[in-house]
Amino acid sequence: MFANALIVLLVLVLFFLAVLLVRTALYGRPPQAVEPAALAEVSGEVVAEHLAEIIRHPTVSELDPEKIDYAAFIELRASLEKLYPRVHSTLRLDPVNRYSLLYTWKGKDERLPPILLASHSDVVPVDPASRGEWKYPPFEGRLAEGYLWGRGTLDNKNTLIAMLEAVETLLKSGYQPERTILLAIGHDEEVGGRQGAAQIAGRIQAYNTRLAAVLDEGGAVFSSGIVPGVKLPLALVGITEKGYLTLHLEAEGQGGHAAYPPRHTVIGVLAMAIAALEDAPMRARTALIELMFEHLGAFLPFGLRLVFANFWLFRPLFRRAMLTNPRMAAMMRTTTAVTMISGGIKDNVLPAHASAVVNFRLLPGDHIADVVQHVRKVVGEDTVQLHIPEGAAWESPPVSPVDGAAFRSLSQVIQQVFPEALVAPYLVMGATDARHYAGVCDHIYRFSPMILDEEGVTSIHNKNERIPIDVLARMVQFYVQLIQVWGAA
Ligand SMILES: [Zn+2]
Repeated sequence: MFANALIVLLVLVLFFLAVLLVRTALYGRPPQAVEPAALAEVSGEVVAEHLAEIIRHPTVSELDPEKIDYAAFIELRASLEKLYPRVHSTLRLDPVNRYSLLYTWKGKDERLPPILLASHSDVVPVDPASRGEWKYPPFEGRLAEGYLWGRGTLDNKNTLIAMLEAVETLLKSGYQPERTILLAIGHDEEVGGRQGAAQIAGRIQAYNTRLAAVLDEGGAVFSSGIVPGVKLPLALVGITEKGYLTLHLEAEGQGGHAAYPPRHTVIGVLAMAIAALEDAPMRARTALIELMFEHLGAFLPFGLRLVFANFWLFRPLFRRAMLTNPRMAAMMRTTTAVTMISGGIKDNVLPAHASAVVNFRLLPGDHIADVVQHVRKVVGEDTVQLHIPEGAAWESPPVSPVDGAAFRSLSQVIQQVFPEALVAPYLVMGATDARHYAGVCDHIYRFSPMILDEEGVTSIHNKNERIPIDVLARMVQFYVQLIQVWGAA
């Protein structure tokens, strides 16, 4: 009797293991067959010279409009007109809000919904403290050691130049797209895009036009270990991005003499609220990470494949392991970062006021109202007041589909230009101009066609930003190819 039970149990265990293994073997989407393409011939040196000229215009974004050097934006536009004569004689150029640029390249069939390729001309400031640590000055556009150096070489003047270079190349060969192509160059992406991309999107909406697809910055081809366990380069295409919320927490009290303190001063009250918030993160969800891994499927190491193929079993384990890695955790939940604090005026005076700033990045599916409600619940009803400063909150935009023609053809072009990389959709952590187009397009993708290694990633918004010259050539090849594919009917 006992022996029989044991045998039954053994059979069940073996069956269970077999199910896990079969699911593992079948896991992942079958890799898409890629037709090889004859890529355009592009001289990286020439593109680098052009980009260098654009880098020399210090189009620095500032939150305070008084501080912006608008002449630099005007000069940048003059450089573009000089560098790309065909673009400027064939495409219509509408300045939007004076400094953003919207180019329209009419397609043969005007009934087809247009596509839009986006970039931005503004750059983040150079931190004065690290200015001396740049190997080559940030606005000189110096070519050295196989790189072009300078602020904006990765974010995002490289894309701006690659787009225009591609159109100029195609015009030279007599090409005209079937579909109208819009090139949108915002001038304030680094401070939120409300003066640039948002206005461009407004204009498109005013024409009652829906776009077939949008490509903006966001992902890239990451050359090393960005996803644990995956060694191959990954071309990550953002299908949505995180939302944003800054909350001010304010605690008010009586003040008075420090010799007769209450049990908690307002600083103590605020500190407890902050500690409680940090200890109560928003709930993690894995749908977007699962989608990413599903695309990497067959190329994952056995362990990860086993986990994802049997996620119903391993989800809790996976979630716990990944939440210890801040980068992976950020892909799975709304993050909470206490970034500023102030309060008190003198060592022997009880503070009457203390305040803190908490910055949340919202996982798609978590709304601003959910986060505010969560904070209310965690910190209690009356201990601290909450308020949202003007312009400091926006929802995560809708997730763009990965099973439509636009994503499929984009993946195909990425693989043609970067055959060494695997393509997968993912969630962009930062904010991009792309979100402003959510009202006029359902197929919005975030990907810069450049190879980024660890050093490249750290140099963005940092010192020694630079781009390899051969990467620049590939960027142009990518846009030449994409325009022909997306620009076809
Ligand atoms: Zn950017």
